[in-house]
Amino acid sequence: MQEALFYSKTTKGQVRCELCPWNCVLSDGQTGICKVRTNHNGILVTNVYNKVAAIGSDPIEKKPLYHFHPGKNILSVGEVGCNLECSFCQNHRISQCKASEFSGFHNITSNKIVDEAQKTWNNTGIAYTYNEPFTFYEFLLDTAQLARLKGLKNVVVSNGYINAAPLQKLLPFIDAFNIDLKAFTDDFYKKYTKGKLQPVLNTLKQIAQSPAHLEITTLIIPGLNDDSSEFESMINWIATELGENVPLHLSRYYPQYKLNAPPTPVEKLVELYDLAKQQLQHVFLGNISDQERSTTYCKNCNAQLISRNRYNTAITTLDRAGNCKKCGTFSSVVI
Ligand code: SF4
Repeated sequence: MQEALFYSKTTKGQVRCELCPWNCVLSDGQTGICKVRTNHNGILVTNVYNKVAAIGSDPIEKKPLYHFHPGKNILSVGEVGCNLECSFCQNHRISQCKASEFSGFHNITSNKIVDEAQKTWNNTGIAYTYNEPFTFYEFLLDTAQLARLKGLKNVVVSNGYINAAPLQKLLPFIDAFNIDLKAFTDDFYKKYTKGKLQPVLNTLKQIAQSPAHLEITTLIIPGLNDDSSEFESMINWIATELGENVPLHLSRYYPQYKLNAPPTPVEKLVELYDLAKQQLQHVFLGNISDQERSTTYCKNCNAQLISRNRYNTAITTLDRAGNCKKCGTFSSVVI
């Protein structure tokens, strides 16, 4: 148990957590919506410092990140807890579990994780992933600072549900983000995640204005967020507010957790891919075998820069500086 960052005390012995948009006000003994931060005798504590629920080496493409150190592996760590409750969550066993009820923690320090990352083959850094990393903010921040000192990259895979001040404090230490944009209506967010859309859009803009690399993932769920005009509004917003170079991953949905709608039809994914490509330079289909729509193309001459077959990646026509070898156009891929 460790004192949390970003909270204030009220006159009645309550604490107000200011880490994420819920801003939970907690009486003594109460735990926040994320299930991992508790008012302990008038002090807000995190129950997951130095506690890892899952750790392993993954291809960086699995995060997914396609334009950040392609072909590398990344040591990936996750804990328990989440500040949203998505009815289609793929990791609900850890994301929707209270810290006090989880029995599979490894007690592991930031130092140990950094050591492990340095020993791992073909490894570029550490990814904070699997559950929602912002809910283990203090451990993430300390580990990322240490990793940075050792020359490792830090990657955050997140739902984007965080307040501006804690994100600002973290940004200097994070090299790349993949943020879920789960839909483009508040109705969807309220009904299927229990959260709100606007804080996620704020996070995306804040990251896009920083030096960190940004990619976005949208899980396409039939009948819930696959309406063409709603999708077009989302693509418009990404192109206008974040820029046409931000890679967008459109992921195929399969029944999970509380949702049992059938998997996304492939034709729908292709239709939305084509729509997105009208405004964005780099769109990819995920959770599906489609080499053509998993390839990075040069935005100028259309040469195949990076080809992918599942997690096998081949950098074909890209130089070390990220320029197309055929026409010299900068690709914005971080090699
Ligand atoms: S991080 Fe947890 S305790 Fe803090 S405001 Fe968000 S849900 Fe509430």
